[in-house]
Amino acid sequence: MPSKLQAPRGTYDVLPEQAAPRRALEQVARRVLEGAGYERVETPVFEATELFARGVGASTDIVQKEMYTFKDAGDRSLTLRPEGTAPICRAYMQHGMQVRSQPVKLWYLSQFFRYERAQAGRFRQFWQVGAEAIGSDDPAVDAECIALLWTILTELGVGGIELRLGSLGTPETRASYREELTAYLRAHEEQLSPEVVARIDLNPLRAFDADHPGTKQVMAGAPVLMDALAPEDLEHFEEVRGRLDAAGIGYRLDPTLVRGLDYYSRTLFEFTSDVLGAQSAVGGGGRYDGLMEQLGGTHTPACGWAAGVERMLLSAEHRPEPHAVCDLYVAGTGVPAFALAVEARRAGLNVQLELAGRSRKGQRKQASRLRAAHVALVEDDGSITVEDVVNGETEAVPGATAAVAHILKGRHL
Ligand code: AMP
Repeated sequence: MPSKLQAPRGTYDVLPEQAAPRRALEQVARRVLEGAGYERVETPVFEATELFARGVGASTDIVQKEMYTFKDAGDRSLTLRPEGTAPICRAYMQHGMQVRSQPVKLWYLSQFFRYERAQAGRFRQFWQVGAEAIGSDDPAVDAECIALLWTILTELGVGGIELRLGSLGTPETRASYREELTAYLRAHEEQLSPEVVARIDLNPLRAFDADHPGTKQVMAGAPVLMDALAPEDLEHFEEVRGRLDAAGIGYRLDPTLVRGLDYYSRTLFEFTSDVLGAQSAVGGGGRYDGLMEQLGGTHTPACGWAAGVERMLLSAEHRPEPHAVCDLYVAGTGVPAFALAVEARRAGLNVQLELAGRSRKGQRKQASRLRAAHVALVEDDGSITVEDVVNGETEAVPGATAAVAHILKGRHL
């Protein structure tokens, strides 16, 4: 017998009973972000591979190991999007959004794809909520981005959150710091893990991410970027911090904060939840003033973040959501029953129709399972009796229109 078909490793099905918390999350994200003037966008699920190679950075794990890249029938190299920022920057340029009032504030709730080691909280197809504010280098943008994600996580009741904050400075500062760090790593090569040694020239900052004990020991004494910031970057960072302090948003300065994407400059942040175990990052982001140029556009400062939907759901308090109300259950399987259901729905009622040919007794049970407020018994000759389940009253009505009017009149709000 052929083996049972399963969803691919690292993917999952959202079953009906799991839909409610996801919907609640979407509502919170929408309220918070649209309330702050962010507008929702959706970009294609696949893009030209070059967009991510240029936008995410050739040396990153994402581009080196994690992309779902394929050739289409026209021999174009396409990639399932592994992240949302580069596509949004592409869309900003493609649609000439620089002529709009700046910053352009956009948000999304979309699926992303990365070939990662699947485990709890880490999937190969996953969802992110993200926000991008494009076209301003004001530190208020950075602080607002952080505050919006903080508000969403707080409203969802994500447990044990910590905000880590750092600054990467400008590309020039990073370049000279990179030389300093590279020299330090070379001087301690024999204590480092082989993977870190192999990547010293490619991406020395990633050494701060390593779990290897010898590497960790070396990194504890490594020079840190925040000490090397240029005065204007330090001032920008102080402005961001001042706003977070004023808003009562607590954070821990983390000079070793690195994220797996190359495009960040200046502010960098990450929220973790202690409820999550190994995959503790819930969401993060930062400023990416150089990305638009990297993609062939003009200099356009911007800031944004992305947060993992699965991780927010895993770490959030689940408040049960009330079921959708069933205003009317139409008991009857004939044509008149069908016509009543359609007419009642057109009038705005939530209607469920008997679809499984149940007996009268089975229909009763089904009505109570659905917690229907009204039940319409519809005979094949078109006669209709409407029962108000709450007060137990029944009424014979002359037809579908009268039945709908009767229900609307006595509707339990
Ligand atoms: P990143 O785009 O890597 O900065 O990720 C932002 C957030 O998305 C992370 O903090 C996670 O919450 C979530 N995330 C990233 N990769 C995955 C994945 N493979 N599975 C589930 N969530 C993820």
